[in-house]
Amino acid sequence: MTSLALESRPAGVPPGTAASDVLAFMDGALEALRTKAEQATDADVDRALGASRRRADDLAALLSPAAASRLEDLAAAAHATTIRRFGRVVRMFAPLYVSNECVSVCTYCGFAAGNDVARRTLAIDEVREEARALLDRGFRHLLLVAGEHARIVSKDYLVDCVRALAPEVPSLSVEVQVWDTATYARLVEAGCEGLIVYQEAYDPATYAAVHVKGKKRNYDWRLAAPDRAAEAGVRRLGVGALLGLHPDWRAEALTLAAHARAILRRWWRCDLAISLPRLRPAAGGFQPERPVTDAELAQLLCALRLYLPDVGVSLSTRESPALRDALIPLGVTQVSAGSHTEPGGYAHPSDAEPQFEVADTRSPATVALTLRAAGYEPVWMDTIGARRRASP
Ligand code: SF4
Repeated sequence: MTSLALESRPAGVPPGTAASDVLAFMDGALEALRTKAEQATDADVDRALGASRRRADDLAALLSPAAASRLEDLAAAAHATTIRRFGRVVRMFAPLYVSNECVSVCTYCGFAAGNDVARRTLAIDEVREEARALLDRGFRHLLLVAGEHARIVSKDYLVDCVRALAPEVPSLSVEVQVWDTATYARLVEAGCEGLIVYQEAYDPATYAAVHVKGKKRNYDWRLAAPDRAAEAGVRRLGVGALLGLHPDWRAEALTLAAHARAILRRWWRCDLAISLPRLRPAAGGFQPERPVTDAELAQLLCALRLYLPDVGVSLSTRESPALRDALIPLGVTQVSAGSHTEPGGYAHPSDAEPQFEVADTRSPATVALTLRAAGYEPVWMDTIGARRRASP
C-alpha cells in the first residue's frame, strides 16, 4: 500500500486507495450505470432480485423506475437479507456535538460561517458531563461531532476529548473535519475506534457548488479520508451522501456503493457502515433542488442492502418516527436516538445553534421499546468483527 502520510492537502488522491477507485469509477463505469438505472426493464429487476451475487448493473436495475413499482418485492428481499446477515439486532448510538464553531461555508449547514447563530465549544469537563448523561441513558457508543475550526476545534482538543472519555465510554467515533494520517493515529491511540466522513456529494460539480468556502472545498482530500483513517488504525468507518444535494440520487447511490465496495476491498479489516441522510431544515435555509421522497429513500435502502449485504446501515433522527420504524426492517442496523445536534443539551439545556432540526424526538428508551415491540433487540454495545462481510 502506498504511504498515505500526507501532511499537506495536495490535489488528487494517492494511487492504490479506495478514493482512487471511486475516481476511476466516476470516470469510467458511472455513466453507463446511470443509463441502466434509468432504462432497466422488469426483466432486469427480476434478474437483480434473483442474483446470488449482485453486480453493479444489478444495483442499477434495483435503483431504476422499473424497480420502484416493485418496492414490496425489494423490501421482502432486503428484509430477508438483513435478518440472515445481521439477525434482529439494531445498534444504538448517540451523537455528542462538542462544538458548532466553523470557518467553512457549506450551503446546507446551520453551522456555516456567516450564519448569525449562537456558537459554543464544550470544555473537556462539559464533554465528559454530556457523555455521562448519555451513558445514564444507556448509550455505550458515542459519536463526537464538531464543525471545522482548526484553532478552536484543534487536533489537540479532539485528542483531549477522546482521551477524557475513553476510560468511561466503551466505543468512541468521530465525525469532524478530515485530518491527516498522523492525526488519525493520535486519535486511535487516545481511544477512538471509528470515523464517519460523508462525502456529502460525490458529483464533483455539485460538491464544488455547495462547499463555498473553507478546507472542505478540497474534494479529493475528503474522499481519501477513510483511507488515511484506516491506515492509521481506525477500525470502524462510515461513509455516505447527503441526499438532496445532487438532483440525481441514483447516480449518488451508485457512487456511494462503489466507494463502499472499494473500502471493503482495500480495508477489509474495517467494519463499514453507510448512511443515507436526507437534507433537513437548518439555519441558512438551503432548499434541495430535488428532494428525495420517502418511497425513493426506501427503494435506495433496499437496493443498497441487496448490493452490500454485510455493510451496516445507519439511520439518524433526521427522519420521522413513523418513517424510521418503517425503514428499520428493510436493512437498518444502527440508529441514533434522543439526539441533540447542538453542543451541550444532554446534561443541561443549551442555547447553541443546532446543526439541523431533529425529526424523531423520541427518547432513547422509547425508541428501544419500539424496537423491541417490532421484534428487534436494541444493542447498546457490540463487538467489532462479529459481522460477516461480503467478498467484493
Ligand atoms: S458541514 Fe461541516 S464544514 Fe460545512 S458548514 Fe457545516 S460544520 Fe462547517
